[in-house]
Amino acid sequence: MTARRITPRGDLTRVEILALLGTAGALDRRQIAARLRLGDATVHEHTRRLLDYGYLRTLAPQAGAVGRPRIPLQVVPEAAATLGVRVATDHLVTVVAGLDGRVITSDVSAFDCHSDPIPQLLAVINRRLADPALGPRLKAVGVATPSSVDPATGYIRVCPRFGWTDLPLGEQLRAELPIPVQVDNDLRASITAELLYRTGREHDDFLVLGIGDGVGLGAVLQRRVHRGPTGLSGEFGHTPVAATGPSCACGARGCLETFTSDDGILRAARRRGLADAATTIEELRARWAAREPELADLLAGIGAILGRAVVGVVNLLGTPTIAVIGENHVLWSGLEPGFSAVMRTSQVTAAYGVHVIVRPWSDAQHALGAASLALAAPETLA
Ligand SMILES: [Zn+2]
Repeated sequence: MTARRITPRGDLTRVEILALLGTAGALDRRQIAARLRLGDATVHEHTRRLLDYGYLRTLAPQAGAVGRPRIPLQVVPEAAATLGVRVATDHLVTVVAGLDGRVITSDVSAFDCHSDPIPQLLAVINRRLADPALGPRLKAVGVATPSSVDPATGYIRVCPRFGWTDLPLGEQLRAELPIPVQVDNDLRASITAELLYRTGREHDDFLVLGIGDGVGLGAVLQRRVHRGPTGLSGEFGHTPVAATGPSCACGARGCLETFTSDDGILRAARRRGLADAATTIEELRARWAAREPELADLLAGIGAILGRAVVGVVNLLGTPTIAVIGENHVLWSGLEPGFSAVMRTSQVTAAYGVHVIVRPWSDAQHALGAASLALAAPETLA
């Protein structure tokens, strides 16, 4: 099998090897090849380079049942670190991750998407680089934004939520920083973290449904994060589901996200008299956590809208495993009855045996994914 290229500029294979050894402990090359479904030559090439960098170490050979002794490889988590930044409307989440994917430190700082993002991002990144305990170990920085972004260049074409268009974020950050910079879409960053550290430990093929202030859906197929030829896949929230629905930030009307995102849920709650103009999504989540019965019908209806859109992707790809992430994962128990009913309606879809895994989630997951993508960028281990 060939190496798994993730972007025109990156290869996730070596990060997968580090993540596997970081989560499963020391393994020999044959075990790595089997667990990650890679060819022996690919594993040899990547582990040789990782040993050269001091990112892996060999342990004492162990006698195998047959054949040559096994030489276990172990990750050296402290040998290097990457910085990941998740950009949200009003805050930045920053994590520093070791080579095994464990978060060493994380924090949240204020952000204003309506002001120039460059100085705000540089302040956060340079603070980490200046930290004597971390700075020298930082090899790269990844930035995750909720936008259509070309991962090869970090050029943001459009970010409806922030009102950004044609912003060369990657180029501008690279001009100011001494380490490699990778800018990518936040859903794809989180899907990468799911592949490396969570759902990908058990499954080679799965969907990731992100529900929060936007709605996104991405696919991991044969352990590859699907990006499409343009690198822009995942904009599932802008699937038109109603010809005359509410206006969407993308310029269209009746997008899925206008019914199933934070704003869509609040709009539906107001229409039923369950919320007023001042009600926030945080209040609605808290009321559902207390199982306010009036919310059950509302959420099940929204779950059904979501299900009718997702079912098309399940039927297309035949991937029964769906990981749910995002701020509104806490509403899943309310969305689920409507969603699952749609999955059972058709015998064709029911045959896939769709199962949903709801992930404990914080937006540090976006930042961790961004840190992983930065480690995969070719110039990081050039
Ligand atoms: Zn839209």
